Amino acid sequence: MLTATPLKRQYADAEADDLRILVVGAGIAGITVAQLLRRNGRHPVLVERSRDGGHPGYMLALMPMVDGAIDDLDIRTLYRQNSTPLNWYSFHSSTGRPGRRDSLATILARYGDYRGIGRGELIDTLSSGGCPVSFGTTVAGIENGAATATVTLRTGGRDVRLGFDLVIVADGIHSSTRALVLGEQSVEVLDTGWGGWVVWAPEAPEPDLGAELWGAGFFLGAYPIKGRLGVIVGGPNEDTAAGAAAFVGRVRDRLTTVSPMVESALASVAAEPDAYYWPLADCRASAWSAGRTVLLGDAAAGFLPTAGVGAGMAMESAWVLARMLLATEPGSVPTTLAVFERDQRPRVETAQQTSRQLARLMFRRSRALAVVRDLAMKVMSVEAALKPIQRLLADRATPGVPPGEKIHGKHGGNPA
Ligand SMILES: Cc1cc2nc3c(=O)[nH]c(=O)nc-3n(C[C@H](O)[C@H](O)[C@H](O)COP(=O)(O)OP(=O)(O)OC[C@H]3O[C@@H](n4cnc5c(N)ncnc54)[C@H](O)[C@@H]3O)c2cc1C
Repeated sequence: MLTATPLKRQYADAEADDLRILVVGAGIAGITVAQLLRRNGRHPVLVERSRDGGHPGYMLALMPMVDGAIDDLDIRTLYRQNSTPLNWYSFHSSTGRPGRRDSLATILARYGDYRGIGRGELIDTLSSGGCPVSFGTTVAGIENGAATATVTLRTGGRDVRLGFDLVIVADGIHSSTRALVLGEQSVEVLDTGWGGWVVWAPEAPEPDLGAELWGAGFFLGAYPIKGRLGVIVGGPNEDTAAGAAAFVGRVRDRLTTVSPMVESALASVAAEPDAYYWPLADCRASAWSAGRTVLLGDAAAGFLPTAGVGAGMAMESAWVLARMLLATEPGSVPTTLAVFERDQRPRVETAQQTSRQLARLMFRRSRALAVVRDLAMKVMSVEAALKPIQRLLADRATPGVPPGEKIHGKHGGNPA
């Protein structure tokens, strides 16, 4: 549970630590890294812009790269209780005909769990046992000094200047803190020109089945969490501008077969006039670390939804960073951050590249291409589409240094 805690109280605890750590953003990455550090006796200050952490929520499919964090937090039983297994994936043709079914369980079981969970339930799980957060707080300035990062925090209508040994910037894909660290030109954005409405639908008869339909000028995804189905229906922004109900009507016109799952998804979007519209753009920061500051999660690399790995990679990065920090002394923070960036960034950008490639295949208008794609999907398995992600899962190293050792020296030392 997120526990509203005054900034002053959090900072008093942090000041007594060997490393004074600030985490900006109580989302998936920020909570994961803060809780992992707390579990190991540290007291990072966790601040969040929103007033109460309340979020309309959406569904997350989490691949096994989250398992390290889940295990180190000792929350696997609760995680399983609050989520549902994603055992099957079904692909519908561009006209709606249910096509091939792949066993996700078979593909991913060798690496660990693949589960569906609501964002709210994941945050409850990660923060079980209590998670202090100072709400209504943002960063107005950072002076990245050699010995200390002096941060101006804006909270309750006033500015407070505090010194930290490390600032973890985890304020999401639209991070405003990123520019304070790296400058305004620090991020490359890939805008697909497509977007989609994200809604909840009732649980489907097969609660471990996810489904996708890739049409000509539209797409639909339906993914289970416990007791509900998370749905996204989208298309090119110029077409979705007509509104959800009109766009759903247009999709229906293109379908010759409407399976019960697709019907439920379309009806749920049409019935929700204020549904959240997700503009499908990603981002990639030009660097992850600078002095005593580091970007984490979507602030470093924000994902398109097509491979379903944004939150997974954010949690993996949080786990890697937290492990590396356990062996880090104040003087070696910049070295640790540089090594973290060197080792983790290529993994995250590989996963992001897979999402971009799938988006190029999925977000197409051409009907001729949709027909060719339908034929190709008869032979192309999910296993083949997810090969690069599987390689990442197979190559996972346990980060950190042997117990009792410390990270010293200049950039280049590999603590792994
Ligand atoms: C609809 C949808 C579906 C998705 N589905 C999947 C999926 O199936 N699988 C998957 O792996 N990923 C999925 N993702 C991606 C996933 O949600 C993100 O990759 C993940 O949340 C990134 O975590 P984060 O902590 O970096 O950012 P976030 O979780 O976005 O957290 C950022 C936090 O920072 C706060 N904040 C923002 N600005 C400031 C500021 N200036 N100061 C302080 N706090 C601030 C925000 O309020 C928020 O709490 C989905 C995303 C969306 C939107």
